[in-house]
Amino acid sequence: MSSERPRGLLLVVSSPSGAGKTTLCNRLRAEFPKIGFSVSYTTRKPRPGETDGVEYHFVSRERFQEMAAADEFAEYAMVHGNMYGTAARQVSDALAEGRDLLFDIDFQGGRQLRNRFPNEVVLVFILPPSLRELERRLRRRATDADDVIAQRLKVARSELAHYPEYDYLIVNDALDTAYDALRAVYVAALHRQQRQAAVAQTLIEGQEELPW
Ligand code: 5GP
Repeated sequence: MSSERPRGLLLVVSSPSGAGKTTLCNRLRAEFPKIGFSVSYTTRKPRPGETDGVEYHFVSRERFQEMAAADEFAEYAMVHGNMYGTAARQVSDALAEGRDLLFDIDFQGGRQLRNRFPNEVVLVFILPPSLRELERRLRRRATDADDVIAQRLKVARSELAHYPEYDYLIVNDALDTAYDALRAVYVAALHRQQRQAAVAQTLIEGQEELPW
């Protein structure tokens, strides 16, 4: 047993696009401002209203490939025809400093992070209540062209098939209920025995205060 400072928690939230994951993640970040958000690199073009460095780091395919070749990604994958990746540095810094990080990444990324950081990763999958509702939400968002929406719906069903790889499944029918579940998962993960072991250990050792 060590009284080392707990490493950060890596909270991965995945879902087919349109299931409400972004809204849920934003709400969690608003309530827990200390959670960092992992800003991914992507070769996708920015949508209207997106700012480089905020939603994503927007890079060329060439730059993305250079980063992949230099092993600068903790995970990366092709999603809907574009490349997306998480900077390894961002993850290792957060873990070392004991900061929690929230990831909005797909199942391929979640799987890679789980393999790399099995003790720190918590995988949450947000499900739409129905495919019809998913389509309605995608159309209402209307940032993508018709063919892109059709493509995303097709991909959604194959993404849903990956649910067994996740620790928690949350159906986003009513936003408040789904948020309560996401919040509960995060708070419970913070209290895992492995994470709180250092606190127990300082008590056992009779120290007055935590060493960090
Ligand atoms: P969008 O283009 O709609 O912002 O995102 C498309 C999909 O890519 C979403 O399912 C999102 O979770 C996923 N994604 C975003 N960033 C990353 C990343 O860094 N790695 C992986 N594997 N998927 C990502």
